[in-house]
Formats: sequence, C-alpha cells, structure tokens
Amino acid sequence: MNKKQKKKLRRILIALALFVVFEALSITGVFDLLPYGIWVEFVAFLIPYLIVGHDVLARAWHGITHRQPFDENLLMTIATIGAFALVLFPDAEPHMAEGAAVMLFYQVGELFESYAVGKTRKSITDMMDIAPEYANVVRDGELVQVDPGEIAVGEEIVCKPGERVPLDGIVVSGRSQLDTSALTGESVPRVVEEGAHVTSGCVNMTGMLVVRTTAAFENSTVSRILELVENASEKKARTENFISRFARVYTPIVVGLAVLIAVVSPLLLGHSVSKSIESALIFLVVSCPCALVISVPLSFFGGIGAASRTGILVKGSSYLETLAAVDTIAFDKTGTLTSGTFGVVAVHAREGIDKELLLSYAAHAEAYSDHPIAMSVVSSYAGTIDRDKIDGVEEHSGQGVSALVNAHRVLIGNDTLMQGAGVDVPNCHLIGTILHVALDGDYLGHIVIADMMKDDAVQAIQALHEAGVKHCVMLTGDREEVAQAVARELGIDEYRAQLMPQDKVRQVESLLESHEGRGKVAFVGDGINDAPVLMRADVGIAMGGMGSDAAIEAADIVLMDDKPSQIACAIRIARKTLRIVKQNIVFALAVKIVIMILALPMIGISTMWLAVFGDVGVSVLAILNAMRCLRVQK
Ligand code: ADP
Ligand code: MG
Repeated sequence: MNKKQKKKLRRILIALALFVVFEALSITGVFDLLPYGIWVEFVAFLIPYLIVGHDVLARAWHGITHRQPFDENLLMTIATIGAFALVLFPDAEPHMAEGAAVMLFYQVGELFESYAVGKTRKSITDMMDIAPEYANVVRDGELVQVDPGEIAVGEEIVCKPGERVPLDGIVVSGRSQLDTSALTGESVPRVVEEGAHVTSGCVNMTGMLVVRTTAAFENSTVSRILELVENASEKKARTENFISRFARVYTPIVVGLAVLIAVVSPLLLGHSVSKSIESALIFLVVSCPCALVISVPLSFFGGIGAASRTGILVKGSSYLETLAAVDTIAFDKTGTLTSGTFGVVAVHAREGIDKELLLSYAAHAEAYSDHPIAMSVVSSYAGTIDRDKIDGVEEHSGQGVSALVNAHRVLIGNDTLMQGAGVDVPNCHLIGTILHVALDGDYLGHIVIADMMKDDAVQAIQALHEAGVKHCVMLTGDREEVAQAVARELGIDEYRAQLMPQDKVRQVESLLESHEGRGKVAFVGDGINDAPVLMRADVGIAMGGMGSDAAIEAADIVLMDDKPSQIACAIRIARKTLRIVKQNIVFALAVKIVIMILALPMIGISTMWLAVFGDVGVSVLAILNAMRCLRVQK
C-alpha cells in the first residue's frame, strides 16, 4: 500500500468508528430523547460523512466547474447529499445513516480498486524489470562498467555470474547457465558455451562469459521488448473503447432518468415526494459504471501480463480480442514450424565438377544472406570464406541468391530461380530442399539440405486443433515433396508449396475472404518476406528469437522462445481474458438493472444499502474476477 492509500485507510477507519457509535445511538433511540434529536443526528452523521467523503465532494465540484460533471463523483455526491436532504421531508424516514454509509463503502471500494490496480500494474512492471544497467568492457586495459548504449556491434563484453546480459551476442569464451525465465517463462536454465547465441535480458547464473555483441543496445531484444510493452496499452480493444464511450453516454442518461423519477412519479403517479426522491437516489448510486470502467481495462492488462510472463508479447489488447476469435491459422514453414537450421543431406555435382568447389561457390554466394538456408550453407562449409572475392549480391526473396564470386556470376536457389535464368535443372529423387547452383549460366549441380522439425511442432498443431482451431494451413516457398512430408508428419490440414512471398499474401487474403463474418485468420511467420503477410492477416504472430526484425515489427504478437506450441497457449489466455470481461459486463449490468427496477417507486423494494452493494460490491467482485486474468495456467 502506498502513502496515499494508507492515508485513505486511516480516514475510513476513523469515519467507520464514529459511524458505528452514532448508528448505535440511533438504533437505541438516544437521539430521539434529545431536543431537536433529528438535527443532532443529522450533524452527527455529517461528521463521518465529511471525514470520509470530502475528496469526492471536491472532485465532483471540480468536475462541475470544469464542465465535465458526469462522472461517478457527481453520482455519489448527488446521491449522498440527497439522502441527507430527505430529512427535510417530514413524511420520510431519515436517511442520514445511509448517506454516510454509502460514502463510506464507496471509499472502501475505491481504496480496494486502487490497491488492486496498483498490484496488477506492479506485477507486470516487475516482470518487465529486465533492463540492464551497465555492460562490462575492457577499455584501456581495464574492465569498466559502461552504459550498454555505448557498446558497438562486434565489441566484446564480459558478463559475470549474477549479472543480466546487457546486449544480444555470441559467446566467445566461457560456459554458463542462463536464466531465461524473464523472457520466455521457461524455468529450466539454458546451458551456453562458446558459439551460442545469448539474448539480452537473460540472467547469467553460474560462469563468466565473454560475449561478442551482434546488435546495438537499441536493437537488442531487451530494448525491443520494453518498447513493445510500453506501447501495448495504446492499442485498445473494441470492448474497452466501447466501455469508455458507454460510460460517457450512460451517466447523463441515468441522471436524467433519476430526475424524471423524482419529478414525474409524485406529480403524475401520486407517489409521495420523499419516496420518489429515495427511488431516484437509489437509481443514482446503483447506476455507477465504475465496475466496468475499471475492470475491463484491468482484465486486458492482466491478460497481456499473463501472456508476457510465458514469453508471449501481445502488442495491444485489441489483438487479444482478435486472437480469441481465431479459427484458422496459416503457418510459414521454414523457421516457424521447422527449426531453420538445415543440415546438408547430399551434394550432387555434375560430372567433372568437384563437390568441394560446388560447396565453396555456394557458401560464398550465400555469405551475405541472413536467410536460414544461407546461414546453414555457410556454417556447414568447412573452408574459410574470403569476403573480398564476393561482389554484386542480390537476394531474390523466396527463390535464392545471385552473386559475383571471383567475378563469376553464381546463382543458388530453387527451380524458379533457375528457370528465370534459363538454366535447365534435373529432378532430384531425394526429399529435401534443393539448392541448385549455376556458374555463369552453366549448371554445376545441387545441394540437398534438410531441416529439422521443431520439437514441439506436432504437439503445437494438435493443441490448436484441441483448442478448436478448425483449419491449419502451411504456406511455403519450398518444394511440393518437402511440404507434403512436413504436412503429413505434423498433421496439418492443408499445405500450399512453391509460393513466392506475394503468393503467400494472396493465399492469406483468400482465407480472409472465405472467412468473412466467421472466425479470424492468424498467420505465423519468421522471415523478412513474411512481414507483408503478417500485416495482412487479422493477427500476425512472429517468432521473436530467430525471427527477423521486419517480422517482429510487422507482427501483432511475438513468441519470444520461437515455440509454435505457445500459439495455443496465447489463444487460451486470450479466450480466458475475453470470457472474464464478458462475465463482468453481464454480471454488473444484470445486477444493476435488477436493483434499478426494484427501486422504481411503484415497486420500491430496493434500499439504499442494496444500492451500495450494486455499486461498490459489484465493482469489487468484478475487479477480483478481472485479477484472475493475471494468473497463468500452463
Ligand atoms: P519458407 O516459405 O519455407 O519460409 P522462403 O519463402 O523463405 O521459404 O523460401 C522459399 C524457397 O526459396 C526456399 O525453399 C529455397 O528453395 C529458396 N530460397 C530462398 N532463399 C534462399 C537462399 N538464401 N538461398 C537459397 N535458396 C533460397
Ligand atoms: Mg520462413
């Protein structure tokens, strides 16, 4: 509890003590024995009322003088002052106690609200407390701590045990265990040694590591995550916007209705004035929309928090809303369902061509590409790459690469690339991705490479089907044979092979079209060429670990640990959040409407106490319910 909340609690307790004493005097009839007893009682209850409620009165007044009167402060003020004012009607029961009590309970509710909201926010910001404060580097022969922003790409930094890794990089020496839980929610530490990629934001647990940085601080994982989370609250869900618009229209309507009841029912229907005013006041108290205004954004906030705790970054509550309605998911293959680290299965060189030469040309041509295929070819090449020999590199997205190696034009890529260059290619009987290599228009041969399925890919598709996702489609630029084999192994419903990047957009568009008015369509991808598709789908989901920056930028949801099984988890969290939001809306409105109907002068069963429950009680229950969004079930 912060200082302000403690102060409020103190005020509430003092007011409560006074209230109890006066209420006891009132019930035992002590006030009735005094001269002007009713007025003594009036003043008595006014004391706790003012102690506990003066700030509400002040805020209501502030609203009136600033021309924005219609908020819950005004409702509470009119209702409670009205309850006290009933003393002016000799035929009415005195309602001073209720007036004070309503304010008291209202403030208890407010206190609880601000406590709960603060707690939810804190647990999310705590979790986001991953920003490193410094990086250790050797400067002038000494190890010094500098601001991570000052480290250049390629510089070597030292991570000591217990420190947070400040920048993304590759381990140059050392061996240690990394706690990645802040990023991925994964509690088992990851063992890293020379050559391993380390992600900023993880905590180095056991050993000292020397890391060569691969990104500047502002492009490092930590900075990107923090930026995403900070911007998340801007993209409001439709439900959220609806509620705040609703509250703006609703309060004046309710005030109008209350006035109407107070005036019309005594004049036209002949109810007593005091009874009618009482009904109107109950109306005002119960009508307060705070249960929704507070609990709905809190639910979304909690949902986003729960997701990020499991390593799923959701860039705004609107995407949770859409994700909950997803029934079709299109996947990219390489890097999304498969790991993207290809192994060389076979090298088929044309007669008279040396295999090593073929591989060397391939590796040199691919040296500047960061496509997973290119990186695998380069890393499986045993020789050294002489970058001076490479020139004129052109990447043909979804096809391959063309480059000048030793002043010879090397083409490496799939059938389409070769056809485009007028090079005839043979068919290969092996199953795998085929990289044809041509030198100055002559065919040299091909390399067959194969990718590994991600560990959890099968389980991911199964979990999605179980979660009620009807349709899983794989869209790939790879060969038909490979696509078919992968689709069968994964149990994917449908696949499309040999797609160019723009074909993927078209495929997703046709899915969107056939889905008009039904469920939403998600696309999951990792590459630069996936970015347009990610933007086009209802929800774009990117792999955050090895995914390209363009994909992460374009996506609405980012999976930090690249595990496709997280998609089902994200959908579960989204649905739970939406379910809780709906429960709160229905519950709050239903209770309020019932109490309002019962308060109508011709029925007149509702009491002020019931109205207090209808406002504060419902808010508290709605908030407690909303806080469930924060809990993660794996
Ligand atoms: P996916 O849709 O499976 O993620 P891409 O669209 O990135 O695949 O690529 C489609 C195909 O284009 C690959 O299977 C490969 O044959 C070819 N290709 C793309 N980039 C390269 C590259 N850098 N080197 C060789 N071939 C490539
Ligand atoms: Mg890909």
